[in-house]
Amino acid sequence: MTRRGEFDLIHDLFAPLARRHPAALGLTDDAAVMPPPADGSHLVISVDTLVIGVHIRPEDPPESVARKALRVNLSDMAAMGATPTGLVLSAALSPALDDAWLEGFAAGLDADLSTWSLGLLGGDTVSTPGPASFSVTMLGTVPPGAHLTRSGGSPGEDLWVSGTIGDSALGLGVLTGDGPAPADPAHAAALARRYQVPEPRVALGQALRGLATAALDVSDGLVADLGHLARASGCAARLEAAAVPLSAAARATVGTDPAHLARVLTGGDDYELLFAAPRGQAAAVQAAAAGAGVAVTRIGRLDSGAVGTVAVVGSDGAPLTLARAGWVHRW
Ligand code: ADP
Ligand code: MG
Repeated sequence: MTRRGEFDLIHDLFAPLARRHPAALGLTDDAAVMPPPADGSHLVISVDTLVIGVHIRPEDPPESVARKALRVNLSDMAAMGATPTGLVLSAALSPALDDAWLEGFAAGLDADLSTWSLGLLGGDTVSTPGPASFSVTMLGTVPPGAHLTRSGGSPGEDLWVSGTIGDSALGLGVLTGDGPAPADPAHAAALARRYQVPEPRVALGQALRGLATAALDVSDGLVADLGHLARASGCAARLEAAAVPLSAAARATVGTDPAHLARVLTGGDDYELLFAAPRGQAAAVQAAAAGAGVAVTRIGRLDSGAVGTVAVVGSDGAPLTLARAGWVHRW
């Protein structure tokens, strides 16, 4: 097992990724330097950390670890309606990660940076005796006042979600063996892929500016995150379980088992956008989604019940009881 030192690692693996952005100064200085947006846009700033053993599995391919570290932040940008511009990366590396692993990580990061035309502006590299972690701080821009928030929803508005829900939670179950096993190996692979490489809805987030009254990205679980949106908006929410969009792989894997459906609704790591919009804007929402190249589905509505509560109803209209709403970190 060969191992580069900190400075060779930065020079060989990270500096090439910084070439897209002059602000990075080639990673040869102590910090990045950039002018504020010339068009008067506001800056949007987010940070998200992935810890091996918590958000990613030690066995996950390094390319996908890098892509997920980037994409969960792109999803936060999407939730704010922002245009991502650049990022800094803090890497806490453990002895378990050799040079080949880090080269894979850099290759995965490079691929996604070029997909979204993003520059690596800088970062920090340290060693840790604990599990490795990767923290990305992302910068984005939004026209003044045009950012989306969680708090603007009103009773009576439709609730929408992008893409499909539950693939990632089912995919994690496939990878760990602690979940329903898809009969079709292609389904198993598709679900595992969604866990390892989420699809941030960046274009949709921007298209929803001025249209969505409240929005967030689903990371903790659909029911839990809907509760967050409802609470911030001072509303209750009603979620129609049968309306929640499932991929063909998820539908086949869930079957009719209520425990598997509960996993879909509460599992998390979806990185889809959940948002509210006035009833009369349904056609505009569909047009925005079509323009962004992603499907959106109406899954319920905000109402005037107890603030922050989510009523999940089955296809017969009867309430479904879930053991938990979603994921909460505890320490
Ligand atoms: P030190 O910790 O000794 O101050 P620096 O933080 O100055 O080292 O790092 C040197 C350069 O390398 C800086 O430009 C910094 O942004 C960059 N850098 C360090 N680690 C990373 C990383 N993981 N990803 C991207 N750039 C990095
Ligand atoms: Mg320094």
